[in-house]
Amino acid sequence: MRRTLVIIKPDAVMRGNAGQLISRFERKGLKIVGMKMEQLNEVKLNTHYQHLKDKPFFPELVKFMSAIPCILMVLEGKEAVSVVRRLVGTTLGREADVGSVRGDYSMSNQANLIHASENDEAAEKEIKLFFKQEELWNYELITFEWIYSSSERGK
Ligand code: UDP
Ligand code: MG
Repeated sequence: MRRTLVIIKPDAVMRGNAGQLISRFERKGLKIVGMKMEQLNEVKLNTHYQHLKDKPFFPELVKFMSAIPCILMVLEGKEAVSVVRRLVGTTLGREADVGSVRGDYSMSNQANLIHASENDEAAEKEIKLFFKQEELWNYELITFEWIYSSSERGK
């Protein structure tokens, strides 16, 4: 099983969509192993979005992401990183597939409701950046064997 970082961004919190978005991950069969609320500061955002530092939209992005608290989650499941990226959809909300979070809720290339780690390496770094070890939980979901086949559960 893999873990991935999800940030429910300020636009989603402000628009009252957090609960619906969390439900989407739950109904897919992903397990919540970490969740908290935090107002992200510039230092953390500089690290998190360092690959975008030279982009013209970077200052505006930091302002948007630090405006009000976000909800941060760590989700676990088989191939969780790519599964969550697909559920979230492509960056530009106006063009994202209908059925994805961004396709269903967003009109923007910035206010696109959710951040999700891009690959396994990014997920590992991002989980470390935002969560302490003691904020991540290990527990059994009793529905586990109804979400995966026996051979999938072994991996
Ligand atoms: N972003 C923006 N303007 C742009 C492109 C991206 O404000 O022209 C923001 C947007 O919120 C996006 C985030 O920067 O989600 C990170 O960009 P990235 O290319 O990593 O997109 P993502 O992985 O979130 O789809
Ligand atoms: Mg990205």
